Amino acid sequence: MRVPYSYLDRQFQDIEPYLDDIRALVKSGDFTLGAPVAEFERRFAELIGTRFAVGVGSGTDALLLSLKALGVGPGDEVVTAANTFVATAGAIALAGARVVFADCDDRFVIDPDLVERAVTPRTKAILPVHWGGQPADMPRILKIAARHKLPVLEDACQSIGASLGGKSCGSLGAAAGFSLHPLKNLNVWGDGGLITTDSEELRDKLVLLRNHGMSTRDEYAFYAHNSRLDSLQAVVGLRLIKEFDWITKTRIANAAKLDLALSRLAPKVTLPRRAPEERHVYHLYQFLAHDRDRLLKHLQERGIEAKVHYPVPLHLQSASRGLGCKAGDFPKAESQAKATITLPVHQHLTAEELAYMISCVEEFYS
Ligand SMILES: *Cc1c(COP(=O)(O)O)cnc(C)c1O
Repeated sequence: MRVPYSYLDRQFQDIEPYLDDIRALVKSGDFTLGAPVAEFERRFAELIGTRFAVGVGSGTDALLLSLKALGVGPGDEVVTAANTFVATAGAIALAGARVVFADCDDRFVIDPDLVERAVTPRTKAILPVHWGGQPADMPRILKIAARHKLPVLEDACQSIGASLGGKSCGSLGAAAGFSLHPLKNLNVWGDGGLITTDSEELRDKLVLLRNHGMSTRDEYAFYAHNSRLDSLQAVVGLRLIKEFDWITKTRIANAAKLDLALSRLAPKVTLPRRAPEERHVYHLYQFLAHDRDRLLKHLQERGIEAKVHYPVPLHLQSASRGLGCKAGDFPKAESQAKATITLPVHQHLTAEELAYMISCVEEFYS
């Protein structure tokens, strides 16, 4: 049996309804910042529970433009998670600021105590990541931010639909960046992203930042980006967002089945603690495995596309060499990089595929 990580062929098996929508778009010629983008922004803001959503070219740009809108620039520092995807740190660096990492905890999210320790007089913002769909400890992060009068920008790229005490990730900080990359939980046919915020002032800045600083056709407020969510991607998003509740619930149900079976394999397998007040949306189904490299090989040889997110921590990558980090600086991120493994958990897995994955992990440890 093959258990693929990517579900895109299954998701878009019935392609005709999408092509009908796209034919209508082509007839309208409404290709940039047209009606579908406005409609998708409205629907997305409604989904997250914020006043505004602004469509941009990617999740990376969502973070970069948000940082700029918050006034982050050269000479500033931004505190973020050591165990994140490169784009989070990349956005900070592209804004001209210095990346300051804080280590994660046992649930793969940034440790608030270490955020507090990383704050300096140069800190301009805190950028927690809701890693893998697991909400970061926002109540404590927001308290620290308030104490130091810092804005919090949420990296919610992996956590569309996640929530904490009933409030959505992406509605908790000053602003949040989301990604619509094909392998994110709500996906389009290429790159796309959104920023959510309740602040009209930020929204107004972001609308200029994504579109050449153009306040009208003939007036430019400042030099800025060309980073708009394509109308074509908004059309795809508008169709998929109707399935989003099912997508999320199916991922959560798949994760519950995996949790139930894999928890019996402790201490060979260590699942992160699950908290009832949190809604984890399982962009990644990740756990710590004894003898990880051999388990990975065992599963891959049996057709299961297990992965590692990620084998080399970000602070030890060439990209981070200017930061002066060294091995040992972020012990949690480093030890997790050696033990973490990710299983497919997507909404198109069958019951047989789930059972097969479980039996292959059990077989490895028996
Ligand atoms: C995917 C991702 C991004 C970047 O999103 P893109 O749309 O690929 O630019 C940023 N941060 C995290 C945590 C991500 O997973």
